[in-house]
Amino acid sequence: MPTATPAIAILGAGPSGLMLARLLEVKQIDYVVFERDDSATAVGQGGTLDIHTGSGQTALQKAGLFDKFKASARYDGQAFKVVDKDGNEVLNMTPDGREDRPEIDRKELRQLLLDSVPAGRIRWGHRVESVYRDESGSMAVRFDGGRVEEGFRLVVGADGAWSKARSLITPAKPQYSGISYLQTSIQTCNPNYFRVSRQCGTGMYMVISDAKSIIVQRMGNGSYNVYVSLHLPENWARQEAQLFKSPDFRTHVMTQYFADWSTHVTDLVRHSDGEFHSWPLWSLPPDSLSWEHVPGITLLGDAAHLALSNGEGVNCGMYDSLQLAEEIETCGMANLDEAVKRYEEKMLPRGVEHIEDGNQMQGMFHAQDSVVQFKVWAQSMGA
Ligand SMILES: Cc1cc2nc3c(=O)[nH]c(=O)nc-3n(C[C@H](O)[C@H](O)[C@H](O)COP(=O)(O)OP(=O)(O)OC[C@H]3O[C@@H](n4cnc5c(N)ncnc54)[C@H](O)[C@@H]3O)c2cc1C
Repeated sequence: MPTATPAIAILGAGPSGLMLARLLEVKQIDYVVFERDDSATAVGQGGTLDIHTGSGQTALQKAGLFDKFKASARYDGQAFKVVDKDGNEVLNMTPDGREDRPEIDRKELRQLLLDSVPAGRIRWGHRVESVYRDESGSMAVRFDGGRVEEGFRLVVGADGAWSKARSLITPAKPQYSGISYLQTSIQTCNPNYFRVSRQCGTGMYMVISDAKSIIVQRMGNGSYNVYVSLHLPENWARQEAQLFKSPDFRTHVMTQYFADWSTHVTDLVRHSDGEFHSWPLWSLPPDSLSWEHVPGITLLGDAAHLALSNGEGVNCGMYDSLQLAEEIETCGMANLDEAVKRYEEKMLPRGVEHIEDGNQMQGMFHAQDSVVQFKVWAQSMGA
């Protein structure tokens, strides 16, 4: 348990921040995590994440958590089927023998990481408002309500897309992609569940055509998350709030945007049973990752390199944490600043690649000829 002010403050208890916390814990380096949520269960944690060999899995191994991860990971979640709007098969990958990208619910991954650090290290209900260097030259964090904690040698912004630490390093801001995901679900008690599970299987079922998609993905408890992706204005869900929350919304979306799609695929949305949530896709411009090192502060995960969804975000973030923790160990706490510089030299090009990959992938799935583009891409990947 920390007694005086710890040397390192981590902003955000998402997968990236918690992975750094765990690695510092293992290396017996003093830290504290500030998280805006009031508790681990206060806010729903959303969908499922695929954890890759060579990045996310490597970080979990180095953190001594790989066996626990494997116990919760869903290897059959790697099944991936893609069809077009008429239900014609475009790709069908079975998970047999594959170990490179198992799925885990985001909620479970967060809990696994939380269980690996002492509870007292996480300060729940601490919404960061700003970060600054105080008169003594050390770093300070101001929270909502005005309270300040100061005396840190390093503040690590792991506070996601809208990081409050980023402005100290770069003026870059996330840009809206023009694409929004509308998320709902199909629970196991749904009268259509059996049909859905036979159609969608144990992993991801994706319908692409005409610059939009329907994605159905199995969760750890057997339910399915359902996403409809569309080109929509940035504030669409807010402008259409009444419609968005109405029980007729799922039918409205299918009629309005998917009228010429087969009911074989649109029934997946019509028969869904959960509330809808809007998930607009934002990313940082790739050229924003050219910042000069600023002593006392750094970023990792989405705070550093927010990208459009490409299945790499959480992997990239946990790998950032591994590289930062290893540089701190190598350089020693006496050379903390040097460690951060060395971390950033490796992370920045990786972050640019991640953002460009996300732009390319979402561009492909939301192109008018997405089926053609996807076939070419899948072939080039040997799928
Ligand atoms: C539609 C969609 C689908 C995705 N699918 C995948 C996928 O299949 N695979 C994959 O790898 N990635 C996926 N991602 C991306 C993935 O969710 C993120 O890359 C990953 O969660 C980043 O982790 P992080 O810890 O850096 O940030 P976050 O997960 O955003 O965590 C940030 C933490 O900081 C906290 N926080 C935020 N602001 C403050 C504040 N002011 N003060 C204190 N705390 C704060 C938050 O509450 C949160 O706990 C997807 C993203 C989207 C949008």
